[in-house]
Amino acid sequence: MNRNNFFSITNLPKIRRIILAAFTLCTLFIGWRFYHFYKWTLDQGAYVPRPPGVEGFLPISALLGFKRLLLTGEFDPIHPAGLVIFMAALAIAFFARKGFCGWICPVGFGSLIIQNIGVRLKRPITLPRWIDYPLTSLKYIILAFFVYMIGWQMDVQAITAFLHTPYNLVADAKMLLFFLHPSGLTIAVVSCIILISFVIPHFWCRYLCPYGALLGVFAFFSPLQVHRQAETCIDCQKCNKICPGGIQVSQQKTVRSPECIGCLECLAVCPKEDCLSVKGPVKHRYNFWLIPVLTVTLWCGFWLTGLFTDHWQSKVSVSSFKQTYQQVLAQPEDRK
Ligand code: SF4
Ligand code: SF4
Ligand code: SF4
Repeated sequence: MNRNNFFSITNLPKIRRIILAAFTLCTLFIGWRFYHFYKWTLDQGAYVPRPPGVEGFLPISALLGFKRLLLTGEFDPIHPAGLVIFMAALAIAFFARKGFCGWICPVGFGSLIIQNIGVRLKRPITLPRWIDYPLTSLKYIILAFFVYMIGWQMDVQAITAFLHTPYNLVADAKMLLFFLHPSGLTIAVVSCIILISFVIPHFWCRYLCPYGALLGVFAFFSPLQVHRQAETCIDCQKCNKICPGGIQVSQQKTVRSPECIGCLECLAVCPKEDCLSVKGPVKHRYNFWLIPVLTVTLWCGFWLTGLFTDHWQSKVSVSSFKQTYQQVLAQPEDRK
């Protein structure tokens, strides 16, 4: 492993942060554009086109659209970009572990920043296994609830009916309002999660996020895994301390855990060259860049395919959005 050039493993954490920051900036830009589109629908500003990427914040709608797509072959016409983003995240999870979490998700980036601050303040603690395991199962229980409600309880007719409700049409704006005008309870819960994250790194991602849990299920079957060569390991435990998934890398031969987000921080921190590596089927060793390259390529591939096959822009007209927003969302004070 050559550690002297720009693309060496030692630079990987820095490049990961740059990529995460770029996706976070894109997300903020999308949010800013959507805010102005929302204001326009309420006759409070100039027209700004609705950015389809905002539908990435609607995973429930995307899950419903995905089931409908599997059962009928029909693509969701209301929030197609949300469905494209959802399928991209699933494909990345299958081929490149939870690369969406490790290299794209802005919430994951926020979590990483908090972790870094926590480390500087010498705050992080490692939870004992008897607390960690039940806490980890929480997000899978939340996921199981959604899968039961959507995968089991709702048939195609029910899903189609829901997708065409005004509630689903304005779900992106409701999400915006959730962030713009959080309730006291929301502020309290979010503040608690942030404060806890300084002490227990990646608290939301590791224990509560059902989206990450779903990706973990797909990632479990991923052909790419981190491998540890026991013969060269000196048991320094640096890999365990850095791992955002809380995985005891130094005790594994192959990291199959659904908690692995493919961040490769363990490879970067390992002092022994060739001790940790990325391996695929039949234990073939791959360049570690394969995980981030696959992640970003699949992401862009899905986006461009959606764009050029007309599965990105909503089929709902801008005037229908405006009308429905005004009917469902506009508060008396918004109309002043
Ligand atoms: S676990 Fe959820 S919030 Fe965290 S990085 Fe993954 S998708 Fe984003
Ligand atoms: S960082 Fe490398 S050498 Fe240290 S325990 Fe982990 S795998 Fe072994
Ligand atoms: S095992 Fe390595 S690649 Fe996987 S989450 Fe932990 S540090 Fe990242």
